[in-house]
Amino acid sequence: MRQYKIAAIPADGIGPEVIEAGVAVLQALAQRAGNFSLVVENFDWGSDYYKKHGVMMPADGLAQLKPFDAIYFGAVGAPDVPDHITLWGLRLPICQGFDQYANVRPTRILPGIASPLRNAGPGDLDWVIVRENSEGEYSGHGGRAHKGLPEEVGTEVAIFTRVGVTRIMRYAFRLAQARPRKLLTVVTKSNAQRHGMVMWDEIAAEVAKEFPDVTWDKMLVDAMTVRMTLKPQSLDTIVATNLHADILSDLAGALAGSLGVAPTANIDPERRFPSMFEPIHGSAFDITGKGIANPVATFWTAAQMLEHLGEGAAAARLMTAVEQVCAAGILTPDVGGKATTREVTDAVIGAIRGANA
Ligand code: NAD
Ligand code: MN
Repeated sequence: MRQYKIAAIPADGIGPEVIEAGVAVLQALAQRAGNFSLVVENFDWGSDYYKKHGVMMPADGLAQLKPFDAIYFGAVGAPDVPDHITLWGLRLPICQGFDQYANVRPTRILPGIASPLRNAGPGDLDWVIVRENSEGEYSGHGGRAHKGLPEEVGTEVAIFTRVGVTRIMRYAFRLAQARPRKLLTVVTKSNAQRHGMVMWDEIAAEVAKEFPDVTWDKMLVDAMTVRMTLKPQSLDTIVATNLHADILSDLAGALAGSLGVAPTANIDPERRFPSMFEPIHGSAFDITGKGIANPVATFWTAAQMLEHLGEGAAAARLMTAVEQVCAAGILTPDVGGKATTREVTDAVIGAIRGANA
């Protein structure tokens, strides 16, 4: 029997509520499959830990996580701790320390969930956005001169390396190749930005030669927002920089119906380190403790985790169960329903137990 060691970091706000639901669903899947098991260890890191110890995680946090097969992450953010501390103290050190350079964000309209696009339903929008997760506009380079003075200058420097761009491009082409439509759109802003962005275009053309069966095209990021809104059917796999994909994936999440259903995976494709799986949303303190957090994003990212671990059949069974429950109208209030986190979770577990898929 295959056994996987999962490090769960529920952290703040609704994080513990959705991770508890996710772990219950994962255990039901393992039980149903019968050929693998999951050992889940909980880590109490986050804002409460910070209030006691002055740090979001212990100094040897990464060393503690390294032996695990995957990390299942809730959300960080507390009303009384500054956001730059919660973000830079836990999530980003894990992404950077484990070189999780591919951020993978599937988006699709689930049955039973309404898209704000008038003519779009399930099947019309089925994308995977690949976000460069290690460099680009968020590399932290830049500075401020003459702070506060009339002549003040601030710079925000984007760093693109040939190694960094080539590896994310290969990852995106490979992913596109594995999907039925074999379609990739490379997003840049190479008309206005003449250096790193032109390099992206050139490297895309080079890497494309390794994937002759993938159809690919280029889009400027501003035109891309229009195409996503007006012709969602024309897109499949999308690759973009750290900043561009950050913005495009929020738009994608909204077009698919809610932040509460949007998952993300922070992947180290070389598998030197554990990858991390999480819902895109934050700690949502406005609904914390009310029992109404939508667990679907956290279930969906669990499917991404199973896929990464090589348990594709269990991942597919999970997504089938989620779609059955959504289609049956068992939905939390953020997507127009009346169900609680618990009711959605129980329904998904029921569908897993009963599913023939
Ligand atoms: P948020 O994602 O926490 O919430 C935005 C809105 O969406 C809220 O109204 C919330 O109730 C709703 N929402 C989010 N997830 C939901 C779910 N699963 N079910 C139902 N409704 C849901 O973003 P915010 O309010 O801007 O930020 C709150 C805190 O979370 C901040 O401290 C922020 O820094 C942090 N944050 C963390 C992450 C992360 O951990 N990856 C991501 C975004 C924000
Ligand atoms: Mn964002």
